[in-house]
Amino acid sequence: METAALLVAAGSGERLGADRPKAFVALAGRPMLEWSLAALAAAGVGRVVVAVPPGFEGAPGAETVAGGQTRSESVRNALAAARGAERVVVHDAARPLVRPELFARCLEALDGADAAVAAAAVTDTVKEAGPDRVVQRTLDRSRLWAIQTPQAFRREALERALDVPADVLARATDDAWLVERAGGRVVVVPSTPANFKVTTPHDLQVADLLLRTRGVD
Ligand code: C5P
Repeated sequence: METAALLVAAGSGERLGADRPKAFVALAGRPMLEWSLAALAAAGVGRVVVAVPPGFEGAPGAETVAGGQTRSESVRNALAAARGAERVVVHDAARPLVRPELFARCLEALDGADAAVAAAAVTDTVKEAGPDRVVQRTLDRSRLWAIQTPQAFRREALERALDVPADVLARATDDAWLVERAGGRVVVVPSTPANFKVTTPHDLQVADLLLRTRGVD
């Protein structure tokens, strides 16, 4: 079955406060998105479409498409370019510590599911509070997962899920939620907190240290 990776790298990364889009910030000697491209190559996923910000087309040495206003619009643009792929694996360029085997495990878990998403078991206690910060309830931690990427999808399930108005797309913090609300079956694939998302300058420092000690996969 033909597989393609959709690497979303079109965010501005405002919270990082860098002078360029987050995916293009230098990390352990190479632009951040190249760590994910290397992991995808090591995983044997040969076909990659990268959603990039305007002006960065052609930059990564892979097939690129223009990103959208929101993350899910970027995914939709990349999916449209990945014609013919029956399975796709979506990954955030902001998770450069991803290990190649995680792509394979997500794709394998698609047998019997519409989507299979990497996730770390929650170790902190999670409480829900109102705007006044008064705690309303404590959730059952044993059933909670912190969702990451990669997220693997059957193409038709993702296509259907993304075929919604722009305001719904804007509310999606991950693509699997769109599949859930369309009635699809989504399974979690155990990962670890080591596959964290680079959001703040502190995250960038930690990722830089870890990747410098690891070297190239
Ligand atoms: O903002 P955040 O870090 O949650 O974004 C997650 C991923 O989505 C990043 O890799 C970012 O580049 C990508 N993104 C995108 N298009 C947007 C917004 C975010 O490709 N419009």
